Amino acid sequence: MGETVRYTFRLRPGATAEAALLAEWGRCRWLWNEAVHQQRSGRGPTFCRLSKLLTEARARSSWLREGSQVAQQQMLRTYALALQHSFKVKGRGRPRPKRRKDTLASLEYTTRGFSIRSQRLRLPGGISIPVVWSRELPSDPTSVRIYQDCLGYWYASFVVRRETTPAPDVEGAIGIDWGVTTTATTTDAAYDLPYLGHRKRCAAELAKMQRRMARRRRVKGAPPSNGYLRAKRRAAKRAKRAARQNIHDARVWANKVVDNHATIAVEDFKPRFLARSRMARKAADAAIGAAKRELVDRGLRAGRRVVLVPPAFTTMTCSRCGTRAKHRLGLGVRVFRCDDCGYTACRNRNAAGTILATAERGRAGADDVRHAITSFRDGALVRSEPEIPRLPAMGKR
Ligand SMILES: [Zn+2]
Repeated sequence: MGETVRYTFRLRPGATAEAALLAEWGRCRWLWNEAVHQQRSGRGPTFCRLSKLLTEARARSSWLREGSQVAQQQMLRTYALALQHSFKVKGRGRPRPKRRKDTLASLEYTTRGFSIRSQRLRLPGGISIPVVWSRELPSDPTSVRIYQDCLGYWYASFVVRRETTPAPDVEGAIGIDWGVTTTATTTDAAYDLPYLGHRKRCAAELAKMQRRMARRRRVKGAPPSNGYLRAKRRAAKRAKRAARQNIHDARVWANKVVDNHATIAVEDFKPRFLARSRMARKAADAAIGAAKRELVDRGLRAGRRVVLVPPAFTTMTCSRCGTRAKHRLGLGVRVFRCDDCGYTACRNRNAAGTILATAERGRAGADDVRHAITSFRDGALVRSEPEIPRLPAMGKR
């Protein structure tokens, strides 16, 4: 069996290559904005009509001709897709103009537009960029996205086909409850994920940089000072480092859980509810978000039964006998005690048990766990949001 995935590598473009990439991005951004304008003035730009317009525009403008046709066509294709999604996907707005000051460069190339020769990425217009090959590509890439992050670093994300070896069959089930002090409390204490506080540790320095930014902020309308920009960059760097550490820890932990369990019942936690509060909370939230994403993704990839359980009532229900307490457990109460059977456990451990019990009761067959595949340009398939059975909230039955 194979799967289509993205492999991302850091790029180290020189000054010339970077200028060329940014010029390419400028042209593509112009095209996107032109398409947005067409749509807003009611001309219903389909990809077909847009590519015809592109051909005409390239014939007229030498500025556009200097750029890669592949990148420009891909930009319009992305636009057409975004427009289509804005009609079909709930909550998705119409494509908006991409402004220079607040969008980051992102270019797409199909096999016609790029090649890899002597370890370098070659793009149209004689652009040649060294790639940091941190691992080997499993197959020839079918397309590549080249993008810049908020720190100004460049990356290349290749779409490749990869062989998958089925994960060994295991027995066992695990329930997972998310929390602030312990990121993941599980039914088996050996699999708990303690909160390592990467962001909290960074928080002090981040706060210092933010104070510095506040001091150096100029009046509205005036261009920001160099000192302000320096502080802003350092703050962004801190946050990024913390996020990377979170993801690394989450991966190691998720692999361990997935390797040893056939059924994984996860509290369906929506981090944005907590994210409005203080810094430390936000940090814990980010750790939970990363852990949940990695766990669900890896669990599905290994063919495990992954079930998302809504968090309602899980802390106040006994995991042994299933009796629901009459009163909600206060946030300060760390120990759960069942009035019915006398079962006593740590608050989160009990919740993890309830989550597992709920998942086992509401049997959603393994067939329900499947990957939603969206068709992508050039016939390549890229995995999108996985489809996971969600159980109805306990209160509603
Ligand atoms: Zn009980």
